[in-house]
Amino acid sequence: MESGNTSESTGLYFILNGLDRGLRKQLTILGSTGSIGKQALEVVRSHPERFGVEVLTAQNSCDRLIEQAKEFKPNAVVIGNPNCYSRLRDALSQYPIKVFAGEDAISQIVEMDGVDIILNALVGYAGMIPTYKAVSAGKVVALANKESLVIAGELIISEAVKNRAGIIPIDSEHSAIFQCLVGEDARSVEKIYLTASGGPFRGMSRSEVELTGIQEALNHPNWSMGNKITIDSATMMNKGLEVIEAHWLFGLPADSIEVIVHPQSVIHSMVQFTDGSMKAQMGVPDMHLPILYALGFPERVQADSPRIDFSTYTQLTFEQPNLELFRNLTLAYQALKTGGNAACILNAANEVAVNAFLNQQLPFLGIAEVVEKCLELMPHLAKPGLEDYITTHNQTTEKANQIISDKLWKY
Ligand code: MG
Repeated sequence: MESGNTSESTGLYFILNGLDRGLRKQLTILGSTGSIGKQALEVVRSHPERFGVEVLTAQNSCDRLIEQAKEFKPNAVVIGNPNCYSRLRDALSQYPIKVFAGEDAISQIVEMDGVDIILNALVGYAGMIPTYKAVSAGKVVALANKESLVIAGELIISEAVKNRAGIIPIDSEHSAIFQCLVGEDARSVEKIYLTASGGPFRGMSRSEVELTGIQEALNHPNWSMGNKITIDSATMMNKGLEVIEAHWLFGLPADSIEVIVHPQSVIHSMVQFTDGSMKAQMGVPDMHLPILYALGFPERVQADSPRIDFSTYTQLTFEQPNLELFRNLTLAYQALKTGGNAACILNAANEVAVNAFLNQQLPFLGIAEVVEKCLELMPHLAKPGLEDYITTHNQTTEKANQIISDKLWKY
């Protein structure tokens, strides 16, 4: 893999030069009933003069989507599960809202005229094709679905550059780096530090973690998030995925992206420059902030959210991650360095393993074992296209399921 590309070749560059100020933005929110989607709608609700809603989509949460549609009055709604179509259509029949159904409709809607800013809050692999289609159609994507870039970063960034599309990160760490980079020359960036809370198992021994159950893993110390990302935070795969996401967003090689554990989650990430200076972006741990920043960019939108209170945060501390216990982080760096479809394999194996853990079919430490086995066993492709990523994802999903049911992951 060529990992030495510069920020000039990323969506970031175009966005910094391309967006107008002061406009009321019409948003398309993919995954509006999930954790990030709901918080994005709260942002819209607080700033009706700045944001309106063009399209809302959900996978299965029909009732919540109906409620949201009635409140925000989008031009269209899409439900991924076709079985929910008639219920949704009937509930909205009195409103001038177009109703569509099916997975394909979700990725088609992002290409439509009138859809300009797309907030992709889908979870996991499901978000990748909509991101690909959106950047191929030259749209602006506010990206909360980190898996898009993990799976197919090389392809998505090259499409974004080709079509002058923009990608603005919503992931708090990447939003922090983005904010630190505004006004800077990409060539003066030496290194970035992604901060990690360390999750609920920070400081524990392997034998303590071995005994852990689902409730402990779902109990994140600082952030309130969906189940998948909360488990990814506990295994530190989330940080591994974020390293890969940062590589593609900011064009830095793996060696220039470092993870540092910062348990208070007040510094959201840092950039070190070639003159030795460092910028950090801080804020209370609340996803409304990076969502508002991404949607408001290039302006800052006034908000009444809580400010940092230094009598609450009397200490900011930093420590190295425990790479022996949290092997997913090492596996993610390896996948990034291997390149091609390796990170797609890593992601698919992880999605299956996290699901199996949540269904009590796999112990916590088995998650990294399944990922490692899949990286070993799945064929490597050096220059995958979109179809290759889809095939790799499906075949890895099958392989990971087989590894789990045959207990081949045993450590
Ligand atoms: Mg994050």
